[in-house]
This record gives sequence, structure tokens and C-alpha cells, in this order.
Amino acid sequence: MILCRFTSDLRLEDHAALAAAAEHGAVLAVLVLDAQTVQRMRRSPRRAAFYARAVSSLDAALRERGSALVVRRGDVERTLHALLRETGARGVVWSARYDAPGMRADEALRTSLEEAGYVAQCVHDAAAIPPEGIERDDGTTGYRSFAPYFDRWRETSVASYDVPIFLRFTTASGASEPLPSDDELGSGEAVPDATPADAFARLSRFLQGDARAYAAARNAPAQDATSHLAAPLSFGVVSMRTVVRATREALENPFLLSEERRSLRLFARSLALRDFFLALSYFHPETEELPLQERMRAFASAAEHPALRAWRAGETGFPLVDAGMRQLVQTGWMHPHVRAVAASFLCFDLGLDWRVGRDAWDALLVEDDPAVATGNWQWIAGVGADLVQHPRIYNPLRQQHRIDPDGRYVRRWIPELQHVPLGRDGSSAPMLPLYEGSTYPAPVVDHATAARAFLQRYHAFTASEHVTEEGSAALRG
Ligand SMILES: Cc1cc2nc3c(=O)[nH]c(=O)nc-3n(C[C@H](O)[C@H](O)[C@H](O)COP(=O)(O)OP(=O)(O)OC[C@H]3O[C@@H](n4cnc5c(N)ncnc54)[C@H](O)[C@@H]3O)c2cc1C
Repeated sequence: MILCRFTSDLRLEDHAALAAAAEHGAVLAVLVLDAQTVQRMRRSPRRAAFYARAVSSLDAALRERGSALVVRRGDVERTLHALLRETGARGVVWSARYDAPGMRADEALRTSLEEAGYVAQCVHDAAAIPPEGIERDDGTTGYRSFAPYFDRWRETSVASYDVPIFLRFTTASGASEPLPSDDELGSGEAVPDATPADAFARLSRFLQGDARAYAAARNAPAQDATSHLAAPLSFGVVSMRTVVRATREALENPFLLSEERRSLRLFARSLALRDFFLALSYFHPETEELPLQERMRAFASAAEHPALRAWRAGETGFPLVDAGMRQLVQTGWMHPHVRAVAASFLCFDLGLDWRVGRDAWDALLVEDDPAVATGNWQWIAGVGADLVQHPRIYNPLRQQHRIDPDGRYVRRWIPELQHVPLGRDGSSAPMLPLYEGSTYPAPVVDHATAARAFLQRYHAFTASEHVTEEGSAALRG
């Protein structure tokens, strides 16, 4: 018998650890609820609700197979050692994590199990293609740059781990403690797609419908037509491999119109970004707290700004930023393009450290992908992977006119602006709208002044002609 320890892989389908466990004999499905997990869930009540639902759905799926999830509470290492002694199992198989604390914990667990003579197998599962699966021309791994990574990624095949025929769950031993409860985790209101069936249905609907217009949806927050797969992927209720394979299959349809094909390709590119950021953290765990770009590690950013509270509350006076923040506070999710604008505002208009923004969002998001959050925040701040090698400073008003020209998105989340004219486009509308007769706040900063002040500091720091030119271009963009 072997223990399969479930973490962020809360499903039975296309499951690398289960497939590996099955080769050792009968499998006992285990979930250890340690203090760190409870603490993390209590930080974001919607995330907690998603997790609780996903765990109970996993238990139900195991019961349908005549088994059940064995839940234990306590320190992971100690609890697993105790369970191994109790059940006589040969060892533990589990899915690797890619955030720095998760990787450290995986390594410590592996060492302690092996030292005690047990099988300890930590397998790649969260990425469609494991970090070591994408090699550079010189045979080494670990791209810091997305474009060449993506060229390799799209040519690399994706493995499949369908439930092995010989997989046998055991019920013979291992009394379970109760499943994690909403009270224990501090769950908030329920959020959708927390079961494999729901997440898979969402994926199928998306690929047959909205995915074909994804190119437009990425830049149209009012449509709300991106996949919303981030949370299911982060908890592994649907496998990333399944999503990528299904997307690649959809691309094989010879009857796609060229715009539909472009959209599906862009969607595949988005999925590749997730693998990329997981791999980046895997090869550079220090980026949890330090910029990937070594030269930017000494660049000082503030931890406080008088308008930080307004940014968190969606009251900066910049409608797109505020709509995004309010959407996040009210739903646990924000449209991808709006995320970039709201994050840019924190880093450049307020001059705050990217970690301040990342940590603020961590308490609000449903998705649970710290490595992906870090990679994206560093990318926006211009200190991480070289998707762009300089700060990408968004003009929040111009972006609003570009991606929400009729103000539908902004008005949905900011009721104060329901009846206020917002202007149609950047060229004809005043760049600083006046919200007369509304309780909506005036802008907390002057964007152009704040952005230029940031660039001045940035240029002084980098003191490089190349970066200076790039930085100026960034402000104009
Ligand atoms: C500042 C900032 C912070 C972010 N923080 C997170 C985070 O904490 N967790 C997270 O999963 N995503 C994060 N993203 C990436 C992206 O915005 C979300 O994955 C996306 O908004 C989720 O919505 P969706 O599922 O509808 O995405 P879609 O656009 O439908 O994309 C499909 C899937 O591709 C992946 N994906 C898309 N864009 C990215 C990207 N830029 N990086 C990595 N994966 C991507 C996600 O798994 C997503 O679910 C962040 C982006 C920014 C700019």
C-alpha cells in the first residue's frame, strides 16, 4: 500500500501522482490539513470556500469508488510518519509545489521520509509541461524570457495520466478526521467551479464558445468572456494538461475562421504563461521576495503611500483601476487586462513595491497560485522575466477609453458613475474627467506627473542609455 497525499491537485482525473502511486499497489488517499494551510485559507474567505468545496467533492469521488479521503490534522511530516506507521504503507507520493515555501516543504518531507526508509515520490503535476520539460538549445533548462520559452512550449507534447486501469483505492485502514469545514477555514460565500465536473463543463463551454473570440475578450472587461479557469487550475480540480490538450485539439479543427484560430492560439499562449511562471519560480525560488533581474534588487520602492488605502478600496478616482479593485473585492477575481492596469498604477503612479500589491491581492483572490502572482507582479513592475525589459506604465484613463469605451465595465462596478458622462475615446474626451454631482472621488495623483517622477528615479538608478530610451517609450505607451 502507498499513500497519495493530495494538495493542490484535488481531482482523480489526469493525475500524475495517482498514476505514480498506482504502480506501488493499493492507494490510500490522504489530505493533511496543517496550520499553514488553515492560515492561508483564512486569509481569503472565497479561496477557503473553494478549497472546502473541492475537498468534499474529492471525498465524494473517492466514495463513489468505494473508498474515502483520509483527513488528518497537524504538522505534515509528523502526521504522515504517524500514518505510515499506522497503516504499514510503503511511502508517500504527492504533487510538487512551485512557490518557494511549498518547494522547501516538499524537499524537507522527501528527506525525512527517505531517511526513515520510506518511498518518497514528489511528481510534477501543476504545469502542462514540467519545468524540466522545456530545454534550451544548449540542453539546459530554465528560460528567463517568455518568447523563446513559448516557441519550445508549443512544440512540446503534453503527457496524459488517465486513471490507470490497475488503480485500486484501499479502504482497509486509516480512520479519517472530519473534512475541513467552512467554520474551520473561515470560508466566505461559495464560488463556482470548485468541482471537477463544473470546471470541466466550464472548459468545454469556453472552448466551444468564447475561446473563439478570446483575442477581443482579453481587451474587453465588460464582456466578461475570458475562461475563468484560474481558480480551478490553481487547486487542480481540472488538470492543466487536460486544458492544454483540449485547446490544442480545438486548434486542429480545419473549419476555424482565421480570427477564431488566432483567438485559440492566444488562449494557448495564456496557458503557456502559467507554465512559464511556475517554471520561473521552480528555477529561481529566491524570486518569491527578490526581483528576478539582479540589477533591480537594490532599486528601492516604498511600502507606504497615502493613497494605498484608496487603491485597495477602489477609490483612487481612476475609474478603470477602481472598477477592477471593486470587482476583485466583491468577487475574488479581476479581468486580466484590468489587473495589469491596476498593478501598474500601484507600482508607478503610487511608486509602491510590487510585493505590497501582490500581498494585498493575495487576501482577495480565489485562485491560489503564489508563484504565478509573483511572476506577474514582477513582470508588471519591470523587474522580472523579460516579457518587457522595462517598466510598462499604463495610462489608466487612456486604457479605460481603449478597453471600456462605453463605460459599461466601469459603471457595473462603480455605481457612483452610473449617470456620469465618461467620454468616448482618448483623443476627444478630456483625459481628466470631472465627476460633477457624483460622490466619486477626484484622482489621488496626477498620472503624468507621478509616472514621470517614477521614470526619473528609474533612470537615475539604472543610469543606462538603453534603459532610458526604453523607459520613455514605456510612458508614451
Ligand atoms: C498583476 C497581476 C497579477 C496576477 N496574479 C495572478 C494570480 O495570482 N494567479 C493567477 O492564476 N493569475 C494571475 N494573473 C494572471 C492572469 O491575470 C489571470 O490568470 C487571469 O486573469 C485569470 O482569468 P482567466 O482564468 O479568465 O484567464 P484567461 O485569460 O482565460 O487565461 C486562461 C488561463 O491562462 C492562465 N493565464 C492567463 N494569463 C496569465 C498570466 N499573465 N500569467 C500566468 N497565467 C496566465 C491562467 O491560468 C488562466 O486561468 C495575474 C496577472 C497580473 C497582471
